Amino acid sequence: MGFTDKKLLSVLKKHGYKLTPQRRAVLKVLSSSQEHLTPADIFEKVQPEYPGIGLVTIYRLLQILTEFGLICEIHANDNSRRYLIRRQPEHHHHLICSSCGTVVDFTDCDLSGLGKRLSRETGFEIETHLLEFVGLCRSCQKEAT
Ligand SMILES: [Zn+2]
Ligand SMILES: [Zn+2]
Ligand SMILES: [Zn+2]
Repeated sequence: MGFTDKKLLSVLKKHGYKLTPQRRAVLKVLSSSQEHLTPADIFEKVQPEYPGIGLVTIYRLLQILTEFGLICEIHANDNSRRYLIRRQPEHHHHLICSSCGTVVDFTDCDLSGLGKRLSRETGFEIETHLLEFVGLCRSCQKEAT
C-alpha cells in the first residue's frame, strides 16, 4: 500500500505547509506516476498547466517529502536523483535496473553489525543508512542474451 494524495496532503497540512495550486499539481504528478521521476520530468508535466512554476519550487517540495519519508529518493547511475511515491512506508532499500530503470524494494537489510563496527572505529553516531543495488533486472538480462 502506498501513500495516497490525501495522505500526502494531510501530512503537509499538519506540518504547516501551504498547499498552493502548484504544489498540489506536483503532488498529483508524483502520486499518479508509477515511474521514478527526475525534477525535470516533473517540471515538464506541471509546466503546461502552471507556466509560472520554477524548478526551485519542485526541488523544495521534493526535499520536504523526502524529509517526511513520503517519497523514495533514488540515486541513479547518471548522478541524477529520481523520486517515486513511497510504496512501503517502512525502512527499505532499492534494487535498480541500470538498463530499464525498474526499481524493486526490499526490506531485509541487516547492517546493524557493520554500523556498530563503523561507529566504534570512527566515533560516528550513525542515524540511518542508504543502500542501493544497481544491476540488470531479469527481463533485461534476457534481452541481452
Ligand atoms: Zn522505495
Ligand atoms: Zn531492466
Ligand atoms: Zn536498511
